[in-house]
Amino acid sequence: MNRSLKVLSVAAIVAIFAILALLIVRSEPSRREATFFPMGGIPFKVVAYGRSAVEFDADMAAVKRRVEDLEQRFNRFKEGSELAAVNGLDPGSSLEISSDMQRIIALSREWHGASLGAFDPTVTPLIELWRESGREGRLPDASRIAAARSMVGFDKVRVRGGKVRFARDGMSLDFGAIAKGLIADEVANLLMRRGVARGVIDAGGNGLAFGAGSFRFGIQDPMKERGMLMGAVDVTMGGVVTSGSYERFVKIGGRRYSHIIDPRDGMPVENGMIAATVVGGTGAGADSLATALMVLGKDEGRRVVKSLEGYDAMLVEGGPLGPVVWVSANLASRLVLTKEWAERVRLF
Ligand code: AMP
Ligand code: MG
Repeated sequence: MNRSLKVLSVAAIVAIFAILALLIVRSEPSRREATFFPMGGIPFKVVAYGRSAVEFDADMAAVKRRVEDLEQRFNRFKEGSELAAVNGLDPGSSLEISSDMQRIIALSREWHGASLGAFDPTVTPLIELWRESGREGRLPDASRIAAARSMVGFDKVRVRGGKVRFARDGMSLDFGAIAKGLIADEVANLLMRRGVARGVIDAGGNGLAFGAGSFRFGIQDPMKERGMLMGAVDVTMGGVVTSGSYERFVKIGGRRYSHIIDPRDGMPVENGMIAATVVGGTGAGADSLATALMVLGKDEGRRVVKSLEGYDAMLVEGGPLGPVVWVSANLASRLVLTKEWAERVRLF
């Protein structure tokens, strides 16, 4: 073989290897991840597969805009927000609302019904009453609870022709139990429209897997400090949301009162429930159902979960011999728990 041919064949081999290496790199599904801190600083994580760095940067810019926009609608504490305007409605008057606001109200109505009234974003006057009582350091008396209760009830929220009005004075909405889940749904839809085939969203603990493939989510141990897991669950397309009374509560007379209110008696929930994790369905559905299960407790809660297509749940309930973990049968094969928790499982 003459010298120039030999050089050529070496160059050809190098080129073939380079092309092969490039193909391997290209076929590797690129995983991209970014976290930002909207909604008063909650970590909002987005994972997307199959995106170039440039595409993912543009995706994230669009995600941030959408999340900011929705926060400006759904956050009752944010000055100038659409919800602040709704909550400030003069008695008897109505207000034209955005399609996003119509959607969250319609979804809330749906989940209010599906949860037998346990999920009710009109509990705001009761939330405020219990917060105030926490500051005062004394329990509210029955008359104050009754007064607040008269301003609660989702059936008193009326939407017609794109306008909302309240059937009672003093009513107001709080979407704290559904908004993060709905925002996760909206972000997943936005990413899919932009061409992201699969990914994961974690909106401050409200998980959502979208597109093809299965993803593993950790589940917080309700008896341990933040970040310690009781186990993990594999999810294919659907939400993973945990609601619990272990992190947020008011203290009155040395006792803890949950931040979740039972709309049926106006009291902070106190039914032995420690945490409820919902797996499946939409982000909004999993979020509102998780809160509702905390209210319903394990008996009614298990019935409601069984009545819903596409939703599974794990309920952690305190007991005299330590906590019991109620796991819906469909979930068992996709759930791994630490040994100490696995010993406490009962299927339903
Ligand atoms: P989550 O952390 O998703 O369980 O939502 C709890 C938040 O939802 C609370 O901090 C309240 O703002 C609000 N909330 C409390 N009780 C209820 C209820 N029964 N239905 C709907 N929202 C509630
Ligand atoms: Mg919730």
